[in-house]
Order: sequence, then C-alpha cells, then structure tokens
Amino acid sequence: MTEESKTEVNFRKMRLKNVPGAREEIIKSKYVIPEEELSSRKGRWRELFHNENELYIEIGMGKGRFIYESARLHPDINYLGIEKYSSVLLRAVQKQEREELLNLFFIRMDAEYICDVFAEGEVDRIYLNFSDPWPKDRHAKRRLPSRQFLARYDKLLKKDGVLEFKTDNRELFDFAVEELSPAGWQVDVISYDLHADEGLMQGNVMTEYEEKFSSRGNPIYKYVIRR
Ligand code: SAM
Repeated sequence: MTEESKTEVNFRKMRLKNVPGAREEIIKSKYVIPEEELSSRKGRWRELFHNENELYIEIGMGKGRFIYESARLHPDINYLGIEKYSSVLLRAVQKQEREELLNLFFIRMDAEYICDVFAEGEVDRIYLNFSDPWPKDRHAKRRLPSRQFLARYDKLLKKDGVLEFKTDNRELFDFAVEELSPAGWQVDVISYDLHADEGLMQGNVMTEYEEKFSSRGNPIYKYVIRR
C-alpha cells in the first residue's frame, strides 16, 4: 500500500467512530441550533446571544476544546462551533450543558453549506484547526482551506475580518498557502513552528489535536490571512 493510501485508510477509520444515540442527544440540547432554524437565523445570529458583540466561528471544531476555552476566556465575544459529525460534537455539547457559557452555541452541519446560514459580512473571525487533510488530489475541494472554501468564507467574513488556520500537516499547510493568492487572500502572519514563537504563543488556545501532535514533537504551522 502506498503512503498516501495508508493515510487515507487511517483518516477514514478516524471518521467512522460512531457513538450510538449521539444525534438524538445533541438534538435535545438548547446549545445546538436545530437544523430547521439555521436558514432563518441568517443575518440575525446576534439575536441568539442577546447582544451586538463580535461573532467568531470555528469550522470543524471536533470535541470543542478550543472553542470552549476561547469562549470562557472571552465572554465579550460570541462563538459558534460548526461540526459535521454528531458523535464528535456530543462531547462539546455535554461540557457546555454542564458549564452553560452564555456566549457559546453549536451547529451540526457540513460547512459546504455555510453560505446558506450566514449573511454577507456577518462573521468577524473564522478559525480552522487541524482540518482533515483529504490527501487524494481529487478530494482537494473538500479541504477546508481550499480555494472553494475560501470563496465561501469571502462571502460571510466581514470586510477586514481574518481567518486563522493551524495544522501539523505540512502537505496540507503548503497546499493552503498555495491556494491563497488565486483566491484573492493575503498572509498577515505565518509560522512554520508556532510553539517556538513566543509572540504568537501569547493567547494561543490549544486544540485537542494540537496538544496531541505537539506533545509528539511535531511542529505546528499557522497562518492568519485576510483579503
Ligand atoms: N479542530 C479540532 C482540533 O483541532 O482538535 C478537530 C480536528 S479534526 C481532525 C477535524 C474535524 O473537522 C472533524 O471533527 C471533522 O468531522 C470536522 N470537519 C471536517 N470537514 C468538515 C465540514 N465540511 N464541515 C464541518 N465539519 C467538518
């Protein structure tokens, strides 16, 4: 088996872990926005938080360590976590059910449809953390930092808003950097060893994957981009 197909098999195995009853449990939570409400909230997300604070979203938030900790540290910012799989989202929802932060809600959806859910310029900042690599070339457009996704983010992110991306996957990072200029984005900040950069580490909130891979000694790559 080639290295690429081994990665693909491991990646699929990671995706397929299913927790029975997860979907039913997250539907019951007041912190998960019901699917049928999503499009009617377009352009009105701040009503959910009962304030006019900035709105930050994390796409592919997994079990939610990053977004939960960010929301705890910054009560004056509204956070929405987006995750495709109920089984993963469940952990974040259970924690929020216990802690009840006022500035954190979740959406279970495929980010491909994100433009149906947010109005133009409605989002102040986007986070992508350790996005799935989709190593096969024919799946490039499914990668969250691809030019197809950047075109979607371009619509919902406010004019001077920024997108932050972290990963330990060098191939994915190089791909992400190459996608920027054709999609009309530019680099504000870039690091090929985030954890060695004292300045950038100030205020850095670790994700589950970041903890796991940096503890193995893997460098973490990060960019901050704008149009
Ligand atoms: N961000 C977390 C972290 O850094 O620990 C989780 C990283 S995990 C490798 C990537 C997550 O992105 C998975 O939970 C996956 O289900 C989610 N994801 C991938 N593609 C997505 C999409 N199109 N829409 C929403 N979530 C997606």
